Amino acid sequence: MWERGWRDEVWSQLSRPWDLIVIGGGITGAGILREATRAGLRTLLVEGHDFASGTSSRSAKMVHGGLRYLKNGEIRLTLESVRERERLLREGRGLIGSVGQLMVSFREDKMPVWVFGVGLIVYDLLALKWGHRRYSAEGLRELCPPLTDQGLVGGYRYFDGQVDDARLVLRLIRESVRGGGTALNYAFVEGLLRQASGPINGVVLRDMASETNGRIIEVHAPVVISATGAWADDLRAEVGGRRRLRKLRGSHLIFSSTRLPLSRTVTMMHPQDARPVFAFPWEGVVLAGTTDVDHRPQMETDPAIQPAEVEYIMASLDRTFPDLGLTAKDVQGAFSGIRSVVDTGKADPSKESREHVLWEEEGLLTVTGGKLTTFRLMAHSALRAVRARLPGQPSFDPRRRVLDPPPPERCLGSDLDAALCMRLAGRYGTDAPALITAARAGELLPIDSCMALWAELRWAARAEGVVHLDDLLLRRVRLGLIAPQGGVQWLDRIRSIVQPELGWDDARWDREASEYTSLWKRCYSLAG
Ligand code: FAD
Repeated sequence: MWERGWRDEVWSQLSRPWDLIVIGGGITGAGILREATRAGLRTLLVEGHDFASGTSSRSAKMVHGGLRYLKNGEIRLTLESVRERERLLREGRGLIGSVGQLMVSFREDKMPVWVFGVGLIVYDLLALKWGHRRYSAEGLRELCPPLTDQGLVGGYRYFDGQVDDARLVLRLIRESVRGGGTALNYAFVEGLLRQASGPINGVVLRDMASETNGRIIEVHAPVVISATGAWADDLRAEVGGRRRLRKLRGSHLIFSSTRLPLSRTVTMMHPQDARPVFAFPWEGVVLAGTTDVDHRPQMETDPAIQPAEVEYIMASLDRTFPDLGLTAKDVQGAFSGIRSVVDTGKADPSKESREHVLWEEEGLLTVTGGKLTTFRLMAHSALRAVRARLPGQPSFDPRRRVLDPPPPERCLGSDLDAALCMRLAGRYGTDAPALITAARAGELLPIDSCMALWAELRWAARAEGVVHLDDLLLRRVRLGLIAPQGGVQWLDRIRSIVQPELGWDDARWDREASEYTSLWKRCYSLAG
């Protein structure tokens, strides 16, 4: 699947009739493709850049109930989210795991520590799972030695889920394609089609992949859903919708786990505005964030962290881990994502609701907002909204698994470590055995100190729809986030593995390598 030449093959089939077109290949579009394909609908998903290149590869990687949404009174969102968390933890072993969380409280915090306790009781009751426990300051420092004792009054330990967000999107899309759906990356919707004054019934697609830039086609379906996240207003403008979205940028800093050694997530209230800031281990590095600021610049695919956000995150780390003496020089990398929320004009962006919205305008259904965690619910609510217009008015069974069962770990090769087998099964699903078979000598080893294996690069280059080098290094295998310098120092070995798989000549490799290096500097490091 998706081996060399696959995009041309898909392109040649685009003029056939479809039941449903989904615009946007982030988690929302992927979830809709998954559920629609399952219901037997001939579904096409088109993504203007790479799959998961929008916000869905730039999240805080949490599969969570959103404890902080309780504070805003969003009980229903929290209830739905904790239940989805439990489902995803059950179905997504190896991709979605449970991670300990420490909520730490300082004397000068505006919110007393007992308030968290009340929130956690509600959180656990909603999940029907008792998992939290109160700790004294000393108890917390035993669990997390880098914590300062200055002003620390204690806190709580509880559990939430963690995920590789881009791999979750990829797994959903690939399982949908295996189940009969169709998906194409670098296929940008330039315009919407309609018959006379009827509802929207198609899209104009432009092929954005470099070799064929400019190819255009009209594609038709009775139902078109826009799952374009923070870009949703652009398509809505075509059907006369007034702009309703507020774009909020959230950024993270990346540290090596030697400079910020954490084995659990630490949640701290920011000393300036009492917003929660998280520092958490992920894929062998430690991420810290996020910010929540209005994003004014043009909506580029790769937004970048701004100096004030760096200062904001560092201030929180400095208060909580002063003995580590962290400075901006310790920052190994950074990434930013844009959240779309309905603009109600609140002065504090963090007060805007995170619930998803559905808008139907001239037949175009837009679904945006929400969370990574609740993608399955969003897919169901979007599909129910257009059900009457779908052939055969299909039903969507909310009880079905959303992820296919992964291959049994014993099928993956007996000489591989059990934890590694689980990781590969979770990330690659039923492709994991083929990934292992494709590996050459020495490739089932980690890439330097990273958790990813060299073999993952070969497999992704061969069979995961990579169009540009950043698709491979930022989203298929997350070297751009987890490796110092974004993995640039290993480009020679990466080239020897992936260039033949991708079929690129030397000139193409040089161009891709130089574009990746400059993109990483500009948008994934503080140098930009
Ligand atoms: P996107 O992922 O942005 O996908 C939209 C896609 O549409 C893009 O890939 C874009 O290229 C494509 N597109 C746009 N226009 C067109 C067009 N004309 N033609 C074709 N394609 C087009 N949620 C959680 O549950 N847990 C978290 O820990 C979490 N952390 C977050 C941290 C941050 C900083 C942010 C910003 C959000 C976080 N969220 C989290 C929320 C979550 O990440 C988002 O709700 C989710 O990723 C949005 O997915 P989406 O598919 O709607 O949008």
